[in-house]
Amino acid sequence: SKEITGNSYHFFSEGMDTRTFESVKLENALYRALDHEELVLYYQPQVDYLTQRIVGVEALLRWNHPVKGLIAPDQFIPIAEETALIIPIGEWVLRESCRQLKYWQDQGYPLFSIAVNLSARQFEQNNLFAMVTNVLSEVGLSAEYLHLELTENLIIKNRELTLKTMKELKSLGIKIAIDDFGTGYSSLGYLKSLPIDTLKIDKSFLHDVTNDDDNAAITNTIITLAQNLNLSVIAEGVETKQHVEFLSARECYLMQGYYFSRPMKAEDITKDFIMDRDY
Ligand code: C2E
Ligand code: CA
Ligand code: CA
Ligand code: CA
Repeated sequence: SKEITGNSYHFFSEGMDTRTFESVKLENALYRALDHEELVLYYQPQVDYLTQRIVGVEALLRWNHPVKGLIAPDQFIPIAEETALIIPIGEWVLRESCRQLKYWQDQGYPLFSIAVNLSARQFEQNNLFAMVTNVLSEVGLSAEYLHLELTENLIIKNRELTLKTMKELKSLGIKIAIDDFGTGYSSLGYLKSLPIDTLKIDKSFLHDVTNDDDNAAITNTIITLAQNLNLSVIAEGVETKQHVEFLSARECYLMQGYYFSRPMKAEDITKDFIMDRDY
């Protein structure tokens, strides 16, 4: 609306896009969420189907909103990224998940790793390496147990800084996985220049893999690519016995998905997965 009203309320009445208003409200609430301990981590097991062992858990963020209940990350991570709130939130996620893993290790449970998602925005911070180093020493967790999951779009955005930071992280012994592999717009060339350990097959490819020839071809190609480049490969979104069989037949044994477990609270992982190893 072009009306001049001289009235500041006008901005919030007809001129305002309600979605923008909603996201401003959400942003303010998200600021408070961190202070009020409304953020929670769920953990999803990563399984080696061949040895039948849990090899890792991925930390997945949720927001326990006082009114709306549990909110999925897709609903608020984009806002956190736009506003740079992802920086303190990401640091909290890293500290909390490392602390949880250290706790499991201190209980004497079999060792496995913790996978933490990093957004591009965090990677662009030039003190990321210092932050990670600090958290690890503060928590007392050995770096080899930390796996960082990054997406391809991060790599396109800032190649120089990405390479520098990746090398620093790798020098500590941290492992790096490319998340949602194959869904980004980057070329494959970076696979030889960047110190990557693992390709993570996106669940969108696996979903229809037994009916859709194209998805089967893509999944096959990613597995073969990883094997030929001597990278680990893990499939996410493993939901069915058919998925498990498809992957096993191609010697892709690292799997994560509802077939094994939904993301769960740490206590439930301890009960259902670490103590009762039957999957
Ligand atoms: P992602 O990293 O690709 O994580 C996998 C998503 O697939 C998770 O959704 C997980 O709950 C879901 N999933 C796991 N197994 C299955 C399955 O068998 N079938 C199906 N259909 N889905 C499955 P979630 O937890 O809602 O997370 C969504 C995205 O939010 C993540 O995708 C990640 O990109 C982002 N995210 C989550 N936590 C964090 C975080 O701490 N920091 C950052 N930067 N991003 C995060
Ligand atoms: Ca991930
Ligand atoms: Ca994914
Ligand atoms: Ca993702």
